Amino acid sequence: MLAFLRPTPEYLAQHYPGGLAAPMPRASDRKLRLFACACVRSIWERLADPRSRNAVEVAERFGDGEATERDLEVARITADPLLVGKPTEGLRNAAYAAWCSAFRETNHALRARIHAFDATGASRRGMALELYLSQPQAALLRDIFGNPFHQPTPCGMTRKPFHNQFAHVDANGGFWLEAECPACRPILAFRDGLIPKLVIRAYTDRLPDGRLDPEVLCVIADTLEEAGCSEASILEHLRGTDRCPSPDTGVWWHRPTGPHFRGCHVIDLLLGKS
Ligand SMILES: [Zn+2]
Ligand SMILES: [Zn+2]
Repeated sequence: MLAFLRPTPEYLAQHYPGGLAAPMPRASDRKLRLFACACVRSIWERLADPRSRNAVEVAERFGDGEATERDLEVARITADPLLVGKPTEGLRNAAYAAWCSAFRETNHALRARIHAFDATGASRRGMALELYLSQPQAALLRDIFGNPFHQPTPCGMTRKPFHNQFAHVDANGGFWLEAECPACRPILAFRDGLIPKLVIRAYTDRLPDGRLDPEVLCVIADTLEEAGCSEASILEHLRGTDRCPSPDTGVWWHRPTGPHFRGCHVIDLLLGKS
């Protein structure tokens, strides 16, 4: 699903030398489900019935291994009656989006994205089914998957996929598994592990609509900086902007990030999730 977002080879060569040659991180089922759930979260106000909202909440927990297949099935079946009798097409699609997110198969869960798109009333005329992506959904995609050609690390080394894990690689070819990186260790151990504690708080104590609290994310950025992290793309993402090269002028510019949801690539990086 992410393949269509690949930029042209010329664009890559200009902005991310070596980007095409670098192995692309594979999107995990967890990330894809959390992306589907984030798309439904973006139309949260159209889900008045708690049974629909519960289906999404259980789907998020299932993605994180905190709910069983049985929990997921019960949540989806409980939301079944909401698929009929809706007064408008938008509300019907919203109910379908929540219901889809609670399918066990990731491909079915991803259809939540399409129903969430349709629930907004946006036109998809002339677009192939796999290709259309609303602007809010593109922002969610960036939040959850980050920039595949620049995977940041707290220590500032290059992050590379290695089998089913990630490794941090320095300029001299030094290579460490992410969990064992000696340069990241003092940052994460700063003030008795304050950063991991704040990150867990950001992940669990969310705003009522499921967004991660931007104020907590700013505190994490300040603490990371104090601990010695100078990776701009991490600090800027947490503070609310992402830098990206403009496809037209080639000039780097900043655009607002977020909203951040479960699966945010920077929070996942600090939690050790993928
Ligand atoms: Zn590191
Ligand atoms: Zn984020």
